[in-house]
Amino acid sequence: MRILFTDLKREYRKFKRKYNQAFTKVLSNSNFVLGDEVSSFENEFSSFIGSKYTVCVNSGLDALVLSIKVLGLTIGDEILLPANTFIATIIAISQNGCKPVLVPNDEFYNIDTKKLSQYITDKTKAIIVVHLYGQAAKMDAIMQYVKKHNLFLIEDCAQSHGASYENRKTGTWGDLGCFSFYPTKTLGGFGDGGAITTDSETLYLQLLKLRNYGSSVKYHHDIIGYNTRLDEIQAALLRVKISHIDKIIHNRRTIANKYIKEINNRKVVLPLVYVKASHVWHLFVVQTDNREEFRTYLLDNGIETGIHYPIPIHLSQAYKNQIVYEDNGNLEMLSNKIVSLPISDWMTLKEASYVIKTINSY
Ligand SMILES: *Cc1c(COP(=O)(O)O)cnc(C)c1O
Repeated sequence: MRILFTDLKREYRKFKRKYNQAFTKVLSNSNFVLGDEVSSFENEFSSFIGSKYTVCVNSGLDALVLSIKVLGLTIGDEILLPANTFIATIIAISQNGCKPVLVPNDEFYNIDTKKLSQYITDKTKAIIVVHLYGQAAKMDAIMQYVKKHNLFLIEDCAQSHGASYENRKTGTWGDLGCFSFYPTKTLGGFGDGGAITTDSETLYLQLLKLRNYGSSVKYHHDIIGYNTRLDEIQAALLRVKISHIDKIIHNRRTIANKYIKEINNRKVVLPLVYVKASHVWHLFVVQTDNREEFRTYLLDNGIETGIHYPIPIHLSQAYKNQIVYEDNGNLEMLSNKIVSLPISDWMTLKEASYVIKTINSY
């Protein structure tokens, strides 16, 4: 059996007729930027998340960049973020001229709320929390810091579409929630895309301008904005996908639960799920000591795996001379042990069984 790490073709094959219809409709109308498809998708996404407003943009990175910008954060302001994240989270901070401050991760791979207070200074203005791998960070503890220190809160939900904490969805806790529709994400499109959710009308109106050259009325430019808009074609295709997103999440949960129940090789450490969090399993990350041997063994048996992420951001070429971060090597050690097992929208139980059987005989 051959198991791809993610299998995007299945989604298209399964809903081919609907995708082709949606695509053809946009081409026939030939209205390609900021039309009905984008605004309809924004409404549908708000209902899915439970936010008042959604503003679609070009990518998850742009969602973060605009969120920091719209809150007025600028040079000299410090923003806390987890050290264990994808590089986009920190790039968005740097692009706004703010200072990123890395906080260690806990055993759930998310920001360690017990250590947060050590990193708060009188220059700290905001926290960007990342719900990594699809599991919400400990939002009750984070909200306490946010209130106590009067901080802004931005959620990086690029991996957590549909995930919740104490029954409240990620993307509704912070001032702003940032999503990515990059193809491999749980709600992935057919190219780049992103969105920002918020309950604040003021921020919403400002974001509409920021994404569109600082303008909400054609040729009236109120602020210095960006060009970061979701295409009508992407929105039309995402509307097809969001109509069955609950089934996709359900399937990912079924696969993950099976992995947790049936993988029983002591060389493989399974992920932990926090009691108050409902995980959506964007990634299923295990740890093992001899990672290269393990990955080669799986690949020899037809099973692809991934690593998220092999180089911690503070050791990346871009940041290693710019940022001080020490957690006694914990993250460095982790980055040598983590392996992401295959899990995808329409993976079958039979395929999961094959992965389990192969891992158990490693
Ligand atoms: C994917 C991702 C992003 C960036 O999204 P893009 O759409 O690729 O720009 C940001 N943060 C995290 C945690 C991500 O996984």
